[in-house]
Parts: sequence; C-alpha cells; structure tokens
Amino acid sequence: MGSYANGSTRADDDPPSVEKLKEPAIPLKTMPLHANAWLNDMKISSPTAIRVNIGNNVAFDPIYRAWTKKYPSALNAFEKIVAYGKGKKIALFLDYDGTLSPIVDEPDHAVMSDQMREVVRSAALHLPTAIISGRSCDKVFDFNKEMKIFQAASEFLPMIDEVFRLLVDKVRGIDGAKVENNKFCVSVHYRNVNEKDWPLVARCTDDVLKAYPRLRLCHGRKVLEVRPVIDWNKGKAVEFLLDSLGLADSDKVLPIYIGDDRTDEDAFKVLREDKRGFGILVSSVPKESHALYSLVDPPEVMDFLKRLVKWKEEEEET
Ligand SMILES: [Mg+2]
Repeated sequence: MGSYANGSTRADDDPPSVEKLKEPAIPLKTMPLHANAWLNDMKISSPTAIRVNIGNNVAFDPIYRAWTKKYPSALNAFEKIVAYGKGKKIALFLDYDGTLSPIVDEPDHAVMSDQMREVVRSAALHLPTAIISGRSCDKVFDFNKEMKIFQAASEFLPMIDEVFRLLVDKVRGIDGAKVENNKFCVSVHYRNVNEKDWPLVARCTDDVLKAYPRLRLCHGRKVLEVRPVIDWNKGKAVEFLLDSLGLADSDKVLPIYIGDDRTDEDAFKVLREDKRGFGILVSSVPKESHALYSLVDPPEVMDFLKRLVKWKEEEEET
C-alpha cells in the first residue's frame, strides 16, 4: 500500500494562498494564545527524564506498579488481548516518536532501529498496519511500501513552511531550542532547553502564531507542535482509516492503537468510547490516559509486536 494524503474538503484543486489561509475561519477553533498557560502545559507534557529510558527497572517501582493495576502491561495481558481478537482481524495503528523510535535529545536522530523496522514490517505483512505521525513521510517512512501512512491537510503546506522559517529565526537565540519542519506541522523542541528558558520558548512561539489564526498549538513531550486548525486529530485519523480500509465493522475488526503522547489520547478515546478496540500507552512514568493497557518503552513495544506476529502466524497455521 502506498502513502497518501487526505483531509482536504475543498472542491477546487488550486491551493489557497498563505494570505487567504491567514484569514480567520468561521467558526474559529483556536486555543487561547497565552504563553503562561502554555508553560503549565509544557511542564505537564514533559515529565522529567529521570525515569525515562530506564527500561524494566520501573517494574520495581511501587508507584509504577500501582499505576499498572489501572493500566496493565500489554505484555502481561497479551493472552487476554488476543482473546478479544479471536476470530477478528486485528488492525494495528502505531505512533512513531517515543513508540517505535526512542525519545532522544536530537529529534532527527529519533530513528527506528533496524530490528524494530523488521518487526514493524512483518507486523504489516500479517495485519492491516498504519503509522499515524506528524512527521513528514521522507523523514520517517523510507522503508515501508506495505504500510499505510496517514497525514492530512496538504493545502496548509505553504503556510507551514512560512511559519517554520519565522520560528527558526525567532528561537535562534534560545540555547538548545530546535525547530523542525515536519511538513504538516512545525515542531518546536525544547528538550535541550534549560527549564528557566521554557517561558521564552512559549512566548516566541506565541508571538509567531498570533499572525496565524488558522494554526493552533498542541503539546507533546518536550515539544510544541504547530498545526492547521482543522477538525482533525489522531482519533479522526483512526476512524477515517478504519472506514476507508473497510475495517469499520467492530464485530469483525479489533483495532489496537499504540502511542506515547498526548496527541495519541484522541485515538485512545475513540477506540474506548465506541468499545471498538483499545489503546496501549507507552510510558515509563504513571499518567492518566484513555488507553486500557501500557508498555514501558519502545523495546517493550517491539516485544509486543513480535508476540502479535507470532500469534498471528500460529493462528494462520491452524
Ligand atoms: Mg509519540
């Protein structure tokens, strides 16, 4: 399956000019642009790295163990999970950063290991599999022709480019700040920025966004993401893909979504509310989620995917 973009509801083919897109849409669904309020969200979205990447050591942490009573490990609950999928087709939706690739200081270095790539590839051979990411295809998806890759809103590309250039200029003086153009969104990474300078990152981003009422801000883990204001999120992406791939019948399909970030919560919520399937949150720190299960880190995601592939192979043999 090849990659594709979708999301435009416009009837004509010419993309609107950046100036046109700067005009407020009616009704406008922007979040309030208050840098101070963002700071709070930046802190909530970015738990300190002390316990990140320490792998299974969290299994010995009493607070984490208590948390897994509410969000059981998807590895421990594997048999239960596949029991739900018995006689159904399991559809797999995967986030990229922090789920398939490790969270690292340099966003450009956040690449999937060869081993993970192989596991994802074999999962895609056995199960309908989609990666849903804000990253641009050429950065992430140089590997997988059998994979669905989902992105939306191509008419916003020129505006995203413009905002990227402005933000690069704006945060130039902030030590450690990095702006990344992910084609469909601009990411302002502050994982290498001293926490005392986080308000400055918020203010610079706010300053640029003021001129773009059709763009909005989302918080990720140590990243601010600037995206088009469209009624779109990863939950809607999952719904769209299930429909468009003919997987919408919940009696026949069990969707599983694996992600680590606040932007993945919309997808967890959609699957949970409709009792269609379930989310698996990747986190080494306890946090509230709409997911039903948890995994500690990308290596555990890989173990889970391996087991899923093995289970599927065995099921196909019988
Ligand atoms: Mg992520």
